Amino acid sequence: MRVVLVGPPGAGKGTQAQFIASNLSIPKISTGDIFRANVSGGTELGKLAKEYMDRGDLVPDEVTIAMVRDRLSEDDAQEGFLLDGFPRNVPQAEILKKMLAEFGVALDVVLELVVDEDEVVRRLAGRRTCSQCGRIWHVDFDDKRDDICDDCGGSLYQRDDDKEETIRRRLEVYQEQTAPLVSFYADEKILAGVDATGPVEEVTRRAMEALAPYTA
Ligand SMILES: [Zn+2]
Repeated sequence: MRVVLVGPPGAGKGTQAQFIASNLSIPKISTGDIFRANVSGGTELGKLAKEYMDRGDLVPDEVTIAMVRDRLSEDDAQEGFLLDGFPRNVPQAEILKKMLAEFGVALDVVLELVVDEDEVVRRLAGRRTCSQCGRIWHVDFDDKRDDICDDCGGSLYQRDDDKEETIRRRLEVYQEQTAPLVSFYADEKILAGVDATGPVEEVTRRAMEALAPYTA
């Protein structure tokens, strides 16, 4: 089965990607993993990507696409895969479609993790990081009433990434970029949405249900 997973920051996409891929016995292929493998393996593409990253620039599309193509050509991806982090936009989706057609295959389904924005904000903005040991506590889930780490006594603080305005901005950017991608796949009739609110296992169960009609 060939799956693309999309979802906003804070939807637990990385975790779901792992569980879903393992349930379907297919490799989870994330752009982050591909980058790291190429960079640490010292491939030509990895060296190229590293030059951009070291300068703090975005890795150009051509480089990302070439890495994805290499990865999808590997043996373990021949019977299926779960892609996480690619495609990010409609032009990349069109390139992926062509690439798979060259391989004589096609995507089966694009699974969209759907979350309530306020829920994401609650989840992320409640995080407090220990300035000493780095442990993350949650004001609601850990019922954290003070700003002191129970492990080491260090003081807790809120990372900039966990501030409400930062989270809302990231969600906004995601919506802008992803809305066209989602409608592209809706037009292709391979879009399945799943409610990603609630416990991890519950979301995985729902995701497997949503994928069931697409499993051959
Ligand atoms: Zn601590």
